[in-house]
Amino acid sequence: MDMTGMMNETVVSNDEPPLLAPKANATDGVAAPVDARRVDPRQNPRWSDWRWHIRNRIRTFEELIEFFPSLRSSPGIAKVAAKYPMAITPYYASIVKNADFSDPVFQMAVPQMNELYDPDFLHADPLEEEEDMPVPGLVHRYRDRALLMSTTTCSMYCRHCTRKRVAGMRESTISVCQLNAITDYLHAHPEIKDVIISGGDPLTMSTSLLERILQAVRSVPSVDIIRIGTRVPVVLPQRITPELVQVLAKYHPLWINTHFNHPNEITAEAEAACARLANAGIPLGNQSVLLRGINDEPHVMEDLCRRLVRMRVRPYYLFQCDLVRGVEHFRTPISRGIEVMEYLRGRLSGLAIPTYVVDTPHGGGKIPVLPNYIVSVSPTHTVLRNFEGMLVNYPEPTEPVKRTPAVASRSGTHGVWELASGQASAITPSTAYRQKRRQQRKLQRMVHQQEHPEFSSLLNSLMNEPAT
Ligand code: SF4
Repeated sequence: MDMTGMMNETVVSNDEPPLLAPKANATDGVAAPVDARRVDPRQNPRWSDWRWHIRNRIRTFEELIEFFPSLRSSPGIAKVAAKYPMAITPYYASIVKNADFSDPVFQMAVPQMNELYDPDFLHADPLEEEEDMPVPGLVHRYRDRALLMSTTTCSMYCRHCTRKRVAGMRESTISVCQLNAITDYLHAHPEIKDVIISGGDPLTMSTSLLERILQAVRSVPSVDIIRIGTRVPVVLPQRITPELVQVLAKYHPLWINTHFNHPNEITAEAEAACARLANAGIPLGNQSVLLRGINDEPHVMEDLCRRLVRMRVRPYYLFQCDLVRGVEHFRTPISRGIEVMEYLRGRLSGLAIPTYVVDTPHGGGKIPVLPNYIVSVSPTHTVLRNFEGMLVNYPEPTEPVKRTPAVASRSGTHGVWELASGQASAITPSTAYRQKRRQQRKLQRMVHQQEHPEFSSLLNSLMNEPAT
């Protein structure tokens, strides 16, 4: 994202005592027990102050080994962090149970060499968000929704982040000028009903700056709902202060989607933060990412979903990991996600089951993926199967269904719904060779019949294109 001329409001200052204790003496080369060396930051009197956590994030290799001395022999981490920034809040570091890559929390926070492995099919921006950005900082992909990138700062830089290309590369926030341009665009596009404030993490901004953005979006009468996408309840629950909640509640209807990936992230602090939001009438959803070695075991996902609903957070999406550079080691096959979904159905209430989606490359958007529950279809019967494998016959209505004319498509584009409702008869890829050939013939006819001689140069260039 072009963050030139950001507001750059400072939320933290450097007048705090250092969090980290003096470095442990490692001259004898014998590793001391991890817990003996790790500082207990929870004893710090500023533990409940979110600004203190942001100021004291673990940002360098040296700071990292103060927390996790066993990493002393892994200097490659510094190389990875130079490519993809590292930031870990003291709070999130404190919920690591084992200081190694067997620990899910540790894996999501600590850089590893695998991030440097980039097969060709990975991209910095696999969802092509930059291509769908009519004004800097606003992604307009789906007709009725837009995503506002408010900041490039996060309290923690998740190692699996889809926006690795921006998150933490240069910590900055949206400029007044950009916000004005975005507001103008929203006014000019009343079809946008739902604005998602995202980033980075919007809740890392000061409350006053966040409120300026909320005010700007709310000033657009056609916007129905505002959503905030944030990982703060997971990695910095101290940020959910009564003051923040009071401000958020002024902009209802306002929803929050957070991002818990593993049951170990659900702590007393995280539960209290979610309760403060829910008590203010803010509906909470959760968007997990399916991550290898972290939550791709069905029982882990079951446990996570159960605990989320218990704290009034609705499991909303389970995302297949995007084809983003630096995350290949976290990817699972799609078949693994289907297995997880197969397991959840029948064991959990529908309320606790997220929709598993693949956010497709090239900006194709989210495609829900499910186990197949339809075994056979005829005009009179549909055969379905349940999670146990029971096959059931569902008789179709005996009276023919009276068809009402399909509502005319409002989007002006053709999709599968327009085919299914009879408003379109085919969708053909424009890149298909057959289509090109047809276009050439049509142009040839027009040029030869002297209807449009001006098309002759276009025709020549088409004729010279290689057949693909
Ligand atoms: S908080 Fe969100 S945007 Fe920031 S690094 Fe984590 S996943 Fe990415």
